Amino acid sequence: MRIGFGSDIHGLVPDRPLIIGGVEIDSDLGAEGHSDADALTHAITDAILGALALGDIGTHFPPSDERWRNAESFVFLRFAVGEMKQHGYEIGNVDSTVHLESPKLRPYIDEIRKGLADALEVETNRVSVKAKTGEGIDVVGERRAVRAEAVVSLEFKL
Ligand code: MG
Repeated sequence: MRIGFGSDIHGLVPDRPLIIGGVEIDSDLGAEGHSDADALTHAITDAILGALALGDIGTHFPPSDERWRNAESFVFLRFAVGEMKQHGYEIGNVDSTVHLESPKLRPYIDEIRKGLADALEVETNRVSVKAKTGEGIDVVGERRAVRAEAVVSLEFKL
């Protein structure tokens, strides 16, 4: 088996959607970025690519490339899943944490897990998404950013 880690951060600004794990969150602030700025999906994508030692999202989808402007981040995730399968692996499990001061993500967690599990081609019970606030401190607590971290295990299938 192999293990991968991914981490991502996006600034929060008005007049942008806030997409987390493929789900649009009802929020007065959204995430700034070249693609749809989905920090959780980027972290999980990087974790899969990292487990395979295949670089990161930027290696495969450079922000300088106009094709990826406002791109749906599940395109990146599905690419990583394709690479994973091509190398003979499947998802063992995913554990992740989203750091966001507000709104509370709890009402969205199950929908996020379901969508990610579908894209990862595993059952939902292999995908964990946790949410934390920044306790009013640092860039998350000051509502200046959303951050996500993810760990994945890949199992080699014969
Ligand atoms: Mg990102």
